[in-house]
Formats: sequence, structure tokens, C-alpha cells
Amino acid sequence: MSDVLLSVEGLVATYNHAIHAVNDVSFAVRRGEIVAVLGANGAGKSTTLQAISGLLPARRGQVAAGRIVFDGHDITAASPAKLVRAGIVPVLEGRHCFSSLTVEENLITGGIGRDARSRVIRTDLEEIYDLFPRLKEHRRSISGLTSGGEQQMTAIARALMSRPRLLVLDEPSMGLAPLIVEGIFRALKQLNAEQGLAILVAEQNSTVALRFSDSALVLENGRGVLSGASAALRNRDDIKTLYLGGSTKKDAHEKRLAHAVA
Ligand code: ATP
Repeated sequence: MSDVLLSVEGLVATYNHAIHAVNDVSFAVRRGEIVAVLGANGAGKSTTLQAISGLLPARRGQVAAGRIVFDGHDITAASPAKLVRAGIVPVLEGRHCFSSLTVEENLITGGIGRDARSRVIRTDLEEIYDLFPRLKEHRRSISGLTSGGEQQMTAIARALMSRPRLLVLDEPSMGLAPLIVEGIFRALKQLNAEQGLAILVAEQNSTVALRFSDSALVLENGRGVLSGASAALRNRDDIKTLYLGGSTKKDAHEKRLAHAVA
């Protein structure tokens, strides 16, 4: 059995068959590894994650070239539902919860897809409450009325209820206080260490992502510009100034439009 769980090979992703959001990006996630995809606004992180999760068509996006292989199977054109069943479970940017359901009801919806019996769901809930004690305290609260951090934890916990083999997280730190971000990454690291869960996480917060990941890829204007072990990248002071602070989303979008028109 290969130790590579996911491999992305020469991925080119476009929107409306015109805007090149991701250009020739390649990387791998090994079993039991946490991999970070870093980059400024508009660098192509979300597009890369959505290509892997089969979500591009819903946003008028396409994989225009390249191949995505999960556990030896080509999944480049697979539907999101098939991918979730295969174990690739995304947590989208923006903490998507069912806001009118309670925290616990949200979590239970995550278990339904795998047709689990209530006893199994109860055991999984207890494991998740051990990992995120705040969710236990708030299990009967309406999700829409909980804090941003609790909603992010709920979104992650709901994904965990479907027992992923690869958890795909898009900017879990967005808009959250540093202490909350720290808690979320610690919980993810604990899951990774105890259960070997592989995690692919897109982040603008390179400091925290490099501390908690094993390896990382830096995207700039849709291209991979740097990759390697997170421990080594952490020691490079130039990462932020070179790649992560530069252009705004609008700048990057305009650059790509110019490229599409040219
Ligand atoms: P952010 O963190 O700001 O979301 P990102 O690194 O995740 O940044 P993407 O969202 O993948 O970047 O965007 C990559 C490029 O693709 C940007 O130029 C963006 O404007 C463009 N883009 C993203 N979504 C669409 C869409 N639905 N239609 C057209 N262009 C899009």
C-alpha cells in the first residue's frame, strides 16, 4: 500500500472556462499527515480544495487539466457525494452550520450520511465532545446563536461525524480570535496524532498553519511557488513578505482577467 493518500498532479482549474485560478499545481498528502496550503487572498487555495472535493462545478469552475488521485483511484471527475462516501470530507470557508438547529442536531446530521445506528452516533458524539468540550456545554444551543468559534467547531465536528479519511478545511482561522484558533488547531493535531487522520488545510494564517502541519505548499497567483517540511519553512522569515502579504484578492483577480483576455 502506497503511503500517499492524495495526490494532485498538474492541476489546472478555471472558472467559466476562462479565468485560470490554479495553474499546474502538484502536491501530495501522505497517510497520517497534516498538509497546509498557504497563500494570500486570491492565491487559489479555495479553488484547489474545491477541485479536490468535487465542488468546482457548483461554482462554474472546472478542472481543465491534471489529475487528482485518492487512495489509488482517479477522482478528478467524481461528485461531492461520492467523495464524501470515499472519505474526503470538506469544511468550507465560512463555518457552514444549520443555524436553526442545535449544536447536537448539527452534529447528528453529519452522521446520517453513513447510515449509522443511534448507539454508534452516541459514541461518536461523546468522542467529539471530549475533543471540543465547548460543544458539549452548548449542545442544546441553537447554532446560529453560538459564537463564531463555536460555529467553526460545530462545522468541523459535523464533518468528523462522517468519519473522514481526509478532512479538507478551508481557512478555519478566518475571523476568529487567536486563542480560539489555537484551540481548534490543537484539537485537529490531537485527532491526527491519536487516530492518524490526514488533514489538508488552506490558511492565510501561515504562522499557526506551519506550527501544526507536517508539510506545506505556498501558492501565489495560482501557482505553487514553494513547498517543503513545515519545520523548515517556519524558519524562513521571508515567507510572509514574499508570498503571503502581497497582492489583494482584487489585484490577483484583475491579473488573471488580464491573462484570460490576452
Ligand atoms: P481567499 O482566501 O480570498 O478565498 P484563495 O487563495 O482561496 O483566496 P480562490 O478563492 O481560490 O483564492 O481564488 C483564486 C482566483 O479565482 C481569484 O482570482 C478569484 O477571484 C477567482 N475566483 C474564485 N472563485 C471564482 C468564481 N466563482 N468565478 C470566477 N472567479 C473566481
